[in-house]
Amino acid sequence: MTVPLIDPFARTIDYLRVSVTDRCDFRCTYCMSEHMTFLPKKELLTLEELDRMCSTFVRMGVRKLRITGGEPLVRKGIMTFFEGMSRHLGDGLDELTLTTNGSQLERFAQPLWDAGVRRVNVSLDTLDPTKFKEITRWGSLDKVLRGIKAAQAAGMRVKVNVVALKNFNDVELFDLLAWAAAEDLDLTFIEVMPMGDMGEVQRLDQYWPLKDLRAQLAQRFTLTELTYKTGGPARYFEVGETGQRLGFITPLTHNFCESCNRVRVTCTGELYMCLGQEDMADLREPLRASEADAGLEDAIRAAIARKPKGHDFDYSRQEVAGQMTRHMSHTGG
Ligand code: SAM
Repeated sequence: MTVPLIDPFARTIDYLRVSVTDRCDFRCTYCMSEHMTFLPKKELLTLEELDRMCSTFVRMGVRKLRITGGEPLVRKGIMTFFEGMSRHLGDGLDELTLTTNGSQLERFAQPLWDAGVRRVNVSLDTLDPTKFKEITRWGSLDKVLRGIKAAQAAGMRVKVNVVALKNFNDVELFDLLAWAAAEDLDLTFIEVMPMGDMGEVQRLDQYWPLKDLRAQLAQRFTLTELTYKTGGPARYFEVGETGQRLGFITPLTHNFCESCNRVRVTCTGELYMCLGQEDMADLREPLRASEADAGLEDAIRAAIARKPKGHDFDYSRQEVAGQMTRHMSHTGG
């Protein structure tokens, strides 16, 4: 391994999230518009380029690799990429994982396990089939639930990520908790972030701060903060009465930038040093300019040297500040 990646605030960068496509088979209302224009295929990094880029990051000290999108499992040939990455497991890479909407998981669970994937995050915001259709526009709850079962049957630990939405899934809080306990699933709530092209009024309308969610939970349960960490931004709590582990990702009410250990690469090879800032470095150009990796390594090091201290997301004063026009599906959620 070469010299590890350390940013100007002495944070070691050992977690890379890679978006392998901007396409998705869902159109979640808070994420995409129904008629999205997607990138021409030639703009995307090829599977070989993705492999070279990720392998370079692993050589430079990345220990955790999360594949995302868009929907990663709709990228053609994606299993070739996972199978390729598995060669780094135990040899630099500690964990190879993905975030998925679960729609294709029934089909891919076993091959993913065979490629060394041991944990998977599935995004699921409601257990009501009608509301599921409403929020995802195109999704089927039943298919996702079958995908979760298939992942568990293959041996994977499944974490369900729920975006907390006021006037939508706030009424399901206790049902979601009970379901996760019954199905032996980990559960994490995420605050909705001001990304994409959604109107400001609608955004504020749906923002359900996790401190309110916690207060609601505390009416029935005892929550104790845990020291448990997965290398990501979630803070974990134990629900005393059920023994469940609950995660909270709170970019708005509790800014977690001081411990940020990650960077993101889009499907076109743009390296974003912060989800909530515009600065980025193009890695596609050095990847395509030479078959040797020296230029790519230089570009990565130069980018990490300007990783910002944090993002500016803020919904206070009844306006949406720090808003990003970039879609989550572009940067990779
Ligand atoms: N398609 C995969 C999935 O559904 O998990 C991976 C990509 S998706 C963009 C990743 C995560 O970002 C999902 O959990 C989604 O709910 C979340 N997400 C999208 N837009 C968001 C927003 N504005 N605020 C918070 N989370 C968001």
